[in-house]
Amino acid sequence: MMKTLKIGDATVQILKEYGNVNDSILFINVHEDETTSIETVYEYAKISPVHFVRLKHKETRRIDFNLRNKAYSIDPNRIFTKKGRRKTLRDGGKFSFKAAKSVKVFADSLLLHLNDVTVVIAMHNNTDVNYSIKSYLPGGDEAKNTDQVYVNPEMDPDDFIYTTELDFYLKLKDKNINVILQDNKRFVNDGSLSVYCGVNGIPYINIEAQKGHFEEQLELIKAVLSIL
Ligand SMILES: [Zn+2]
Repeated sequence: MMKTLKIGDATVQILKEYGNVNDSILFINVHEDETTSIETVYEYAKISPVHFVRLKHKETRRIDFNLRNKAYSIDPNRIFTKKGRRKTLRDGGKFSFKAAKSVKVFADSLLLHLNDVTVVIAMHNNTDVNYSIKSYLPGGDEAKNTDQVYVNPEMDPDDFIYTTELDFYLKLKDKNINVILQDNKRFVNDGSLSVYCGVNGIPYINIEAQKGHFEEQLELIKAVLSIL
């Protein structure tokens, strides 16, 4: 199923592919340039079909659009709260209430796919600079978002799982996998899907791997599905 939506003058498609009817786990990708994370879902789906929602736009991280002859830009993983929309529009160069409204309509359409879902699995890739599981350690950029963190020194620090659920955290730690438990009270409200799920009590898992770490990310998918 493909649904075509507009943010200002930009056309963004929400592509939904289907797993087994009774399956209430949803894979989601909102950063279209994070291609390894998309490819690993398709690879896994060859073994066992999964529900997968992703955005199709211009294969970029950000979505640029014009509204009333003004240019705007958003990060689609910063649009799920009012504060997040305001900040991502500002970071993209400009904020207006009309633009924020247009982004909200889009975000709400995307969030409809979370109805009746028991676990959301967000798929992301990072690069070999700055951001890694180390960002969640005391003193790191993401420390405020961290309740608990477990680092397996044998794993690449760019390959890790981030979750809102203690139960998932403990099971993944048991498997000796890099994992972070979000602090669901003190996290920074950046409008990301993890924040939205944390606030709304929707169990959330982010499978994050360095771009190009196809095998590693595929193994993380298998590990996550084995504990659900
Ligand atoms: Zn991403």
